[in-house]
Amino acid sequence: MSPPASSPFPAGTLLRRAWRELGRACVEVLAPATCAACGVHCAGALCAGCAALLESRGGPACPRCGEPLLAPGSPCLAEHRFLSGIDALVSPWRYRGAGGAIVRRFKFEGDLAAAALLVRAMLAALRASPHALPRRALVMHVPMHRQRRRQRGFDQAERLASSLARELQLRFVGAALRRGRATLSQTDPRVTSRAENVAGAFVVARPRLLAEATVLLVDDVITSGGTARACAEALRAAGVRRILLLTGAVG
Ligand SMILES: [Zn+2]
Ligand SMILES: [Zn+2]
Repeated sequence: MSPPASSPFPAGTLLRRAWRELGRACVEVLAPATCAACGVHCAGALCAGCAALLESRGGPACPRCGEPLLAPGSPCLAEHRFLSGIDALVSPWRYRGAGGAIVRRFKFEGDLAAAALLVRAMLAALRASPHALPRRALVMHVPMHRQRRRQRGFDQAERLASSLARELQLRFVGAALRRGRATLSQTDPRVTSRAENVAGAFVVARPRLLAEATVLLVDDVITSGGTARACAEALRAAGVRRILLLTGAVG
């Protein structure tokens, strides 16, 4: 198997990863299915308890932030400053309840069923949104710092973004946005604000590709929005015209 043109990984890494995923897939075929949020054996993607705790953001929604509106066409009551530099946010679930559990199960345990469920929900939310993407739109992810990526073994946002790009038949550009320096853990006592910790943390590696582009920026979750705004700032500086943020959950 040869690596895709945009892949930042050597063929050996991809091959090892493919074997690992094949192994996991075999285990999944032989073992009963488990809930993508809590891991108990169940027939569907989620057990009944987690399905009851999953909070969707469906219904008539604000085209900018995706929060539900009182009635179609009525003004949004949410504050949009957290999306500064970002044209719109699309996300299927709230982080509280089972949405966050699914994100964490993928992120910290590498659960592929949780990843597949996230991708399906993100695609459905995007397709239900009023935002159409041009065929030349680029799919990018909010990258982890290299050191953290080494510790975890994979970058969850990158996995989601590459799967989404494949489903949407859009180009995934994995290495155009990089962390410029290590950000401290949010629990580090030296960090006084998340915004300060991520400001200026991203650099663009392929600015020519990004000039005038529409970017679908992917992350697993948005909380304060500081990280996504820092990405947007770097992308705008490189000439990106439109940024649509797609996350698995909203914190
Ligand atoms: Zn469950
Ligand atoms: Zn809104």
